[in-house]
Amino acid sequence: MTLTLQQLNSAAPAEALRLLDGLYEHSPWIAEQALAQRPFASLAALKHAMVTVLAHASVDAQLALIRAHPELAGKAMVSQSLTAESTNEQQKAGLTNCTPEELTHIQQLNARYIARFGFPFILAVRGPRGTGLPKREIIATVERRLGNPVDFERAECLRHIHRIAEIRLNDKFGFEPAVGNEVWDWHEDLARHSDPEFAERGELTVTYLTDAHRACAGDLVVRMRACGFDKVGIDAVGNVVGVYNAAPHPSPLPEGEGAKTLLTGSHFDTVRNGGKYDGRLGIFVPMACVKQLHAAGRRLPFAIEVVGFAEEEGQRYKATFLGSGALTGHFNPAWLDQQDADGVTMRDAMRHAGLPATLEAIGVLQRDPSKYLGFVEVHIEQGPVLNEMDLPLGVVTSINASVRYQCAAIGMASHAGTTPMNRRRDAASAVAELALYAEQRASADGDSVATIGMLQVPGGSINVVPGRCLFSLDLRAPSNAQRDALERDILAQLRAICERRGIGLTLEETMRAAAAPSAPDWQARWENAVTALGVPLHRMPSGAGHDAMKLHEVMPQAMLFVRGLNSGISHNPLESTTSDDMELCVNAFSHLLDQIASEHR
Ligand SMILES: [Zn+2]
Repeated sequence: MTLTLQQLNSAAPAEALRLLDGLYEHSPWIAEQALAQRPFASLAALKHAMVTVLAHASVDAQLALIRAHPELAGKAMVSQSLTAESTNEQQKAGLTNCTPEELTHIQQLNARYIARFGFPFILAVRGPRGTGLPKREIIATVERRLGNPVDFERAECLRHIHRIAEIRLNDKFGFEPAVGNEVWDWHEDLARHSDPEFAERGELTVTYLTDAHRACAGDLVVRMRACGFDKVGIDAVGNVVGVYNAAPHPSPLPEGEGAKTLLTGSHFDTVRNGGKYDGRLGIFVPMACVKQLHAAGRRLPFAIEVVGFAEEEGQRYKATFLGSGALTGHFNPAWLDQQDADGVTMRDAMRHAGLPATLEAIGVLQRDPSKYLGFVEVHIEQGPVLNEMDLPLGVVTSINASVRYQCAAIGMASHAGTTPMNRRRDAASAVAELALYAEQRASADGDSVATIGMLQVPGGSINVVPGRCLFSLDLRAPSNAQRDALERDILAQLRAICERRGIGLTLEETMRAAAAPSAPDWQARWENAVTALGVPLHRMPSGAGHDAMKLHEVMPQAMLFVRGLNSGISHNPLESTTSDDMELCVNAFSHLLDQIASEHR
């Protein structure tokens, strides 16, 4: 007998508690306190209620919960004294059939872990898809997490405990995130294509118009057709475009008054050694929605156009947002002559990919905004916020404004032994001083960020005072005005530092992007969708740039973020998200579609 929410909502308190037995290891108090918030509108709401209970508990209570867990592949497993739930989980991860060597290795890691943190290592071994992590991944995770600070690791254990409870709850309710699992599998499948060298190392890298990139495009075409899109094709810059037609209008309309189109999508290229979800999630989620519509034989009063953008990351050529830029009419003709690291021009790469490689063909990709309702984009957060708050979804308020500089500080190279401290013109120390100022200045805003991500002393040597220091500056803030103020202060400080230290300076602005605030009505639709799922609403700016930023120039846009695991790490193979969160995201997207449909009635 599987449990239903209605049963849980209507059960007497003692009975309700019994129904939730075993979710949190030897800790029924979490479910008990959460049950005070009945009735629950959804499983997601129940999960969040339990998260909130634990978040408000004392550190001692949190530690007691962590300590109530058995060690992975530890003595309790070997002596078969685990709870039924733990046995099932350790079994699914293959931990119950470790070789003696593996067992010894894991137990040594456990001992090191407990010596460092004072509590056992906790990992949701059934993993992001609920089907079990491979043993080697579990071992690599213990090794990696041994390096975390203690407070961070305690919080990470609690997040894994919530994930364990989520899976146990799904089991109790006989709930399987079937659509989320399918979307999760699509990512896994697409990730089998990777550029040479990276592929050999098992890393994911798909840069513009390489063979792996074209294979991805081919896969997307096949999958879009299978989902039931009416028109699927690859355009002149390599974007994969699928259109699901609107319902036919009951009566013939005058020319130009046909149904409008909702534009959505994201990119399928990756950074070098990137993650599987960055960009691709924003293509697959709406594809899953179209698949559902098609399976139900449903047409909406508007068309849905899903674009898998060919290029966003600017890895092979210095041309970020090339894919979405082609739709807004911002393809820079000079890009065609740009060469990659092997001297292949973009024009030749396009021809090799069977694309026309002419400005005329690219020009016609520009969309007429009057034919569109707007643009929405789903993306993995690529940051730690949702993960830390234990929230699956976040609604984006604005994509941050940014500006970037490549700079050089020019001092005087001199002997490290003979140049007294008060006679030096140390270029690296000047930049170091700026780095500390930039950190303080951005922190003072609360939501601005400043980064010196590149800092080198070209031709430097251990016994020479740095004569030159090359560095980058990346400044971002939620509004243009805030970004400009940040930029003004940091550049003024930089000039003052250089002046005081007798250092010369060159600055080259390499990028400037305006903030892209979400269109209020579109943001509200995402908010309605999230709320309807029983998920608490969290609004947040986007610190990263996205394709939505380009589309913002020509039509209203709004984005939805999905939580990333491992502190939201991105542009990294550890990037991850659960199939449960993907399922919620598909449901949110479907809800948004239904809202627009009902507005058309
Ligand atoms: Zn992205």
